[in-house]
Amino acid sequence: SSLLPYSRQIVSEEDISAVTEVLASDWLTTGPKIEEFEKSFASFVDAKEAVAVSNGTAALHAGMYALNISKGDEVIVPTMTFAGTANAVLFQEGTPVFVDSDPETLLIDPSKVESAITKNTKAIVAVDYAGHSCDYDVLKIIAEKHQLPLLADACHALGGSFKGKSVGSLADLSTFSFHPVKPITTGEGGMITTDDAGLAQKMRQFRNHCITTDHRERQEQGSWFYEQVDLGYNYRLTDLQCALGQTQLKNVPERTKSRQAIAAKYDQAFAKLNAVQPLSVSDDVSHAYHLYVIQLKLDQLTADRSQIFKALRAENIGVNVHYIPVHLHPFDREELKTAPGLCPEAEKAYERIISLPIFAGMDDQDVSDVIEAVTKVCQAYAV
Ligand SMILES: *Cc1c(COP(=O)(O)O)cnc(C)c1O
Repeated sequence: SSLLPYSRQIVSEEDISAVTEVLASDWLTTGPKIEEFEKSFASFVDAKEAVAVSNGTAALHAGMYALNISKGDEVIVPTMTFAGTANAVLFQEGTPVFVDSDPETLLIDPSKVESAITKNTKAIVAVDYAGHSCDYDVLKIIAEKHQLPLLADACHALGGSFKGKSVGSLADLSTFSFHPVKPITTGEGGMITTDDAGLAQKMRQFRNHCITTDHRERQEQGSWFYEQVDLGYNYRLTDLQCALGQTQLKNVPERTKSRQAIAAKYDQAFAKLNAVQPLSVSDDVSHAYHLYVIQLKLDQLTADRSQIFKALRAENIGVNVHYIPVHLHPFDREELKTAPGLCPEAEKAYERIISLPIFAGMDDQDVSDVIEAVTKVCQAYAV
C-alpha cells in the first residue's frame, strides 16, 4: 500500500464543472465570481465582509497592512505556528514578538501575551492551532485593555467555533488559507474576514497594487483612468479559484463532522496507550481538526520523536511535525536575534509532537491503519 498523507484535498465533479464553466466565461480574474465567493464565505462564518486573496500568507500580509503595521511596530505572534504568520509582520517591516504556548493545547498562552505587550505593540495575532479556536474572550479582554487589534490566523480552523460563534467572526480580522491540505482548497488561495467595512476596503485595494479601480470596473465605466495611492501587491484570487472555493465551501459542515469523527476514534484508541497524549480540547470549542497532534510521553518510550516518526513512516503512515517553533528557524535567529530558551514550552513540545493523518477522505480502514501503526510502534518502543 502507499503512504497515507496527513491531509489532502477532495475535489468533486461539481467542483470540476464549476471551474470549467468559468474557463469558458468572459472573466478568468477580477470577474463576478470573486464577490460571489466572498459573500458566501462571509455569510458562512457570520462576518460582514470577506476579502479573497491569493493565499493565506497574503491574507496575513493584507491584515498587517490594514492594521497599519510599519517599521518599529511590534506584533505579538505565537511561536508554535507556520513561518508565514510571523513573515507577514516582517513584510510590513514590523517586528514579530514570539509568545510561548500553553503546554496542554499548544495555543498561544494568554498570560504570556499580556507580559509581552510594550509601548510599541500594535497588534496581537493568535493562531487556532490544529483547528482548536483560541479563547477569544480572554484574548479580547487583553486586547481591549491595551487598545490593540486582534487578528486570528484561522488557517486551520474553518468550520470550527468557540462558545457557539463561528471561527471567522471572533477577532477583528481572521485569515484563512485554501492550500490543498487545509479544510477547503482553491489550489492556492486565502481569505480575510472582518466586520469592519473600512478595513475590508483597504485590503481590497491592497490586493490590487493599491490601485483605485480594477480591470473590470474600468471596462464597465469605459475608462482607462486609475491611480495608485499606496504600495500594494498583486494578491488577487482568480475567478477559476473563487468558483472552486464556492463549491468547496458547501462541504465544510459535513467534512468537519467527518474529521471530528476520526478524531473521536483516535481519542478512544489512544486513551489506552501510555506513551501517547493527545492535545487537550476545551469544552467551549467545536474543533475543526485540520491536524490531529499527539505529544509523545518520552519517558514511556525507549525512542525519541524522530525514531517514532521514522517507524510510523515505515508503516506507510504519512505523519508530520507541526511546527518547528518559528523563533528557532535560522532566518529568525539571524534577523530577530532569537535563540533556544525564548519559548521553553513550545521548544519542549516540539521534541515530542507528531501530526497523524486526518482528512475527510479517509475511510475506516485508513483510520484503523493509523491506530494499529501507532499502537504497534509504541509497544515496540515501550520502556
Ligand atoms: C497554511 C497556513 C498559512 C499560510 O497559508 P498559505 O496559503 O500556504 O500561504 C498561515 N498560517 C497558518 C497557521 C497556516 O496553517
